[in-house]
Amino acid sequence: MNADQLGDEVTDQLNGRFTDRLADVVAGVSDPEIDVGLRDLGVLRSVSLTDGRIRVHLTPTRISCPAVGEIARRVRSALAEAAPGYGIEIVWERGAWQPAAVTVAGRDALSRGGYRVAGTASSCPYCGSEDVEQAGRFGGAVCKVPYDCRGCGSTFDVIGTAGCTAMLPTPEPVRGGSR
Ligand SMILES: [Zn+2]
Repeated sequence: MNADQLGDEVTDQLNGRFTDRLADVVAGVSDPEIDVGLRDLGVLRSVSLTDGRIRVHLTPTRISCPAVGEIARRVRSALAEAAPGYGIEIVWERGAWQPAAVTVAGRDALSRGGYRVAGTASSCPYCGSEDVEQAGRFGGAVCKVPYDCRGCGSTFDVIGTAGCTAMLPTPEPVRGGSR
């Protein structure tokens, strides 16, 4: 290995460490609606650095959710503070979010906030009862489906994406047959 190659390798390693640090900065940004970091929420896909430009790939848990603008604003502001002078590009990968990308810490935090992630057991986050019933098609945001718990009377939201019936915790039996 010659000096140039060694220099390149050192540069690569430093860039890698810097990129990791930037990814941690983005991970520390929380969702405006749910107080969970973007990595724990499965929203942060990747952070890369090319020619002085930071590119952040995010995938929204909701489609056409107004929070997307606020998330982008928070990410830009956090990165501008951590890495002044770098260009920032945010790339939204719509429809790519998967409930499986939510970390254990993220699931815990969501559960404390009264949310369930689609794809997990459809039990009540408050009392653990499985005697729950879907209370409507959508909640306040397109991505949320409200559920009622018959065990403790609480309502809670299951998070998915728009058109996300496939991501609901358990397939709902179609009442009354066809529609
Ligand atoms: Zn309950």
